[in-house]
Amino acid sequence: MWQIQQHPVKGRIVVATQDIQKGETVCISNLVRQVEQRDRYSLQKGENLHIYVDEPGILFSHSCEPNLGLRDNAEAFDFVAAMDIPTGTELTFHYGMSEIYSVAVDACACGTPRCAGRSVGFAEMTPEEQERLMALGVSRHAREIHAALSVA
Ligand SMILES: [Zn+2]
Repeated sequence: MWQIQQHPVKGRIVVATQDIQKGETVCISNLVRQVEQRDRYSLQKGENLHIYVDEPGILFSHSCEPNLGLRDNAEAFDFVAAMDIPTGTELTFHYGMSEIYSVAVDACACGTPRCAGRSVGFAEMTPEEQERLMALGVSRHAREIHAALSVA
């Protein structure tokens, strides 16, 4: 379904090797290690819980218009097609789907019309951007943050 390829600028990226339909689970990632502080490679699972996942999960690039969403599994995340994805397309998600405050991408090169210039954390987005990402698939923790903000 996917293959790791070498990109001249981005390094290793993950590319669809077949047409993937919206809703298909592209990868079930596994927990490698938990850490307390976020870094460029960790995914946020809870308030003070950041995790490293195995490949290919750790290799998916950030995009401001991603084609994957997140779904929590027991220890890590499933990556799910948020739309139909044609063969040969790079697989991407939005780091704000897991990161409440993102430190991952200072200068985003996704090149999409919506590009925010960097990876913006979930709590830093407008309500409209939060709704857009939630429709694609965000972490349970991000949904909890959204619910808390909505009643505040
Ligand atoms: Zn971007």
